[in-house]
Amino acid sequence: MLPAVFLSRGTVTVVKRLQSTISGQVFPFERIEEFADNGESLEVGIEGLAGARVKPGRHLWERFADFLPVAIDGDLTLGEGETPLLPAGKALSEFAGIGRLHLKNETMNPTWSFKDRGSLTTIAMARKMGEPVTATISTGNMGHSMAAYGARARIRAVVFVPHYAPLEKIRAMAIHGATVVKVAAPDYSLMKREVLGLAAEFNLRIVSGNGPIRVEGYKLAAFEMVEQLEGRVPGFIAVPTSACGHLRGLFKGYRELKEAGLTDRLPRMIVVQAKNVNPVVSAIREGRDRIIPVSGGDTIAEAITSGDPPGGDEIVLKAKRYGWLAEDVTEEEILDAQRRLAGAGFFVEPAAATSLAAVKKLRAAGTIGEEDSVVLMLTGSGLKDMSVFARQHVDVIESDLRRIRGDVEKILARRGEVF
Ligand SMILES: *Cc1c(COP(=O)(O)O)cnc(C)c1O
Repeated sequence: MLPAVFLSRGTVTVVKRLQSTISGQVFPFERIEEFADNGESLEVGIEGLAGARVKPGRHLWERFADFLPVAIDGDLTLGEGETPLLPAGKALSEFAGIGRLHLKNETMNPTWSFKDRGSLTTIAMARKMGEPVTATISTGNMGHSMAAYGARARIRAVVFVPHYAPLEKIRAMAIHGATVVKVAAPDYSLMKREVLGLAAEFNLRIVSGNGPIRVEGYKLAAFEMVEQLEGRVPGFIAVPTSACGHLRGLFKGYRELKEAGLTDRLPRMIVVQAKNVNPVVSAIREGRDRIIPVSGGDTIAEAITSGDPPGGDEIVLKAKRYGWLAEDVTEEEILDAQRRLAGAGFFVEPAAATSLAAVKKLRAAGTIGEEDSVVLMLTGSGLKDMSVFARQHVDVIESDLRRIRGDVEKILARRGEVF
């Protein structure tokens, strides 16, 4: 017998449950822990997706309600989603060597990262379960996002952060009223395991970056891109990867659209990591089935520092099954990509810049073809990590009222220079 919850979709009754992603163990939908007992990631199984339809509605989550396991109350939204999907422009296309290069600008979410899409569904779940407190572990963006959605829903958010989380993100969590706990630990993955292990004992839902309900929110970006591209599916989607939830959610969204007959193909995912913390990329590249944890690695891309992502083996297996690509990038390549994106109008944080550097390398190696269409997920805003300016040099002209006339003359004398 399946432990199942019934929700009514019009006249159809829909069964939903949690399944472990490798061995297919079944758990109740309400399970408080984010992973199976054997450590595998869990995913929401919704029966009857073949009959799911896009409905009329102003919000994405209204139009795609048939694909979501929790109903979203209108008062929970902070206006997440509906972010631009734009051609990358001449300079970035030429840099990457890819003509059909698009940018999905997720920095335009309410707390300036894609995490808001997952916070919408996780806070909806917390409300549905009547939970007065919800917790999360985060290097910054997820905590900030959960703090904002917790404030919106009047649900207390507790955020556990590692000692190196940027001050910009910590202060943002705190001003929303979240309880922020900075945890001293030798390694982020160790800290994560320790904190996640407290969930059952305290009956506290501790939302992880790769949890099943969060992943359901990330599906919304796939739905949105299908609408924006009028039903077309890009050849490749490059995703800066840490806990693996974002990548998993995007792909699950496309899989379900195909199951419902709304699209006819799947995109190939590109798993992108920093060379210094690359457990998933190295497993895929070496053809292993399991992740070997990376510890002690340090990268300027602090949002992608999960050296041992819980449930990450699933991504390695999927990469094999679906022919995904994987690439890692050096610190210099990340800084260069960040500068080039900013030079084209997109100021993103280092983690978000990794995918531009990665697709350039994959194109140079011939793995991505010249005619392929590629989307880069710009996951988070540059303003959320100003510490990069210790490494990114920027020029500012110091002037005063006496010198300003001469300075303007000098600046305009160079106006014919190629920008
Ligand atoms: C969280 C985050 C990522 C990684 O997403 P995962 O779901 O943890 O794999 C990438 N970039 C930014 C800016 C993030 O905040």
